[in-house]
Amino acid sequence: MQYPDSISKLIDSYMKLPGIGEKTATRLAFFTIDMDKSDVMTFAKSLTDAKTKLHYCSICGNITEDDPCVICTDTSRDQSKVLVVEQAKDVMSMDRMDDYHGLFHVLHGVLSPMEGVGPDDLNIASLLRRLQDNDKVQEVIVATNATPEGEATATYLARLIKPAGIKVTRLAHGLSVGSDIEYADQMTLMKAVEGRTEL
Ligand SMILES: [Zn+2]
Repeated sequence: MQYPDSISKLIDSYMKLPGIGEKTATRLAFFTIDMDKSDVMTFAKSLTDAKTKLHYCSICGNITEDDPCVICTDTSRDQSKVLVVEQAKDVMSMDRMDDYHGLFHVLHGVLSPMEGVGPDDLNIASLLRRLQDNDKVQEVIVATNATPEGEATATYLARLIKPAGIKVTRLAHGLSVGSDIEYADQMTLMKAVEGRTEL
């Protein structure tokens, strides 16, 4: 027996999410059918809102509804520091720290020759432009993850930025090799920022 078309489509949609196979997708689809109508409508609206209202900040690449984002427009922040992260969700993790009140820049990935990701595929050109246009920045803190690709990206950025006379630092110990910023606790992140070393 075939599922009605609207169930099949719902299952197909759930299967597009990471880590969700046919079995889980089917379970979620039937769960959705049993949900309150208003909850389903809210869910559907959240999905379309996320896709239509959110975009990347033209300055830092963070996810935002307004452009520039609230971080870039916050003049009370320390304008001399830019913390570079891989993903927009890392901005949230790092910004929760009480210790750091500088600016951010999101790369949207890391250099990965194996996966065919080169400098042009990342938000690097806009970082360089930003540093050129703004002579207030004195330090770029590279907070890519402690993976081989994260390290290679940090080294690459240091080579590009240092000739401009801007200090480039890297998050220090505390973050173990292969660990993701997303999952690091506050204390670990604070220690990593405090103990940053120059590249
Ligand atoms: Zn921004």
